[in-house]
Amino acid sequence: MASVMTVHRAYIGFGANLGDRLASCKKALAALAALPGCRLGRISSLYETEPVGPTDQPHFINGVALVETEGNARWLLGQLFAIEAGLGRVRGAKWGPRTIDLDLLLFDEEIIASGELTVPHPRLHERRFVLQPLHEIAPDLRHPILGKTMGELLDALGEEGGRVELIHPET
Ligand code: ATP
Ligand code: CA
Ligand code: CA
Repeated sequence: MASVMTVHRAYIGFGANLGDRLASCKKALAALAALPGCRLGRISSLYETEPVGPTDQPHFINGVALVETEGNARWLLGQLFAIEAGLGRVRGAKWGPRTIDLDLLLFDEEIIASGELTVPHPRLHERRFVLQPLHEIAPDLRHPILGKTMGELLDALGEEGGRVELIHPET
């Protein structure tokens, strides 16, 4: 009998604020779709967002995508690093400008806390540029530790969490 693979639901946050930001985001999404044992699910709208941390850098394009994967969270993180490197990501100053950033936001209901990988992403609930697109593509999704939906976490942010603006790219 053929074994049935478990398919996990991983939410990936993507962001770019150097070079052709839109092209980098699109290339990253194409690379996610091409990963072995993976399928790209819903993709959020794109948002123009203020940088977190050092603010003397260009605004970001941010969004979130669902990836259904047969691989585990650690494997997926390694794939995210490889895609970032392939798109010219250079690791400079913390929270500095980058051609592409791919974060593993959520992986099923899993809670992981190791040096290399923390899931849910530890700053997910503080960032409007993550919560807004997550809420858009997964309105019923609950944070596995905080127990709140993305909409409830957005409400809790109040005025905090940075400004985000929906954008309508030409292509
Ligand atoms: P932030 O994590 O605040 O969004 P960042 O994305 O700029 O900041 P990076 O320099 O891209 O941070 O990554 C720093 C380290 O974070 C990576 O080496 C990686 O091992 C670790 N990390 C821990 N948890 C995650 C996660 N859920 N997704 C991506 N990287 C993670
Ligand atoms: Ca990040
Ligand atoms: Ca990152």
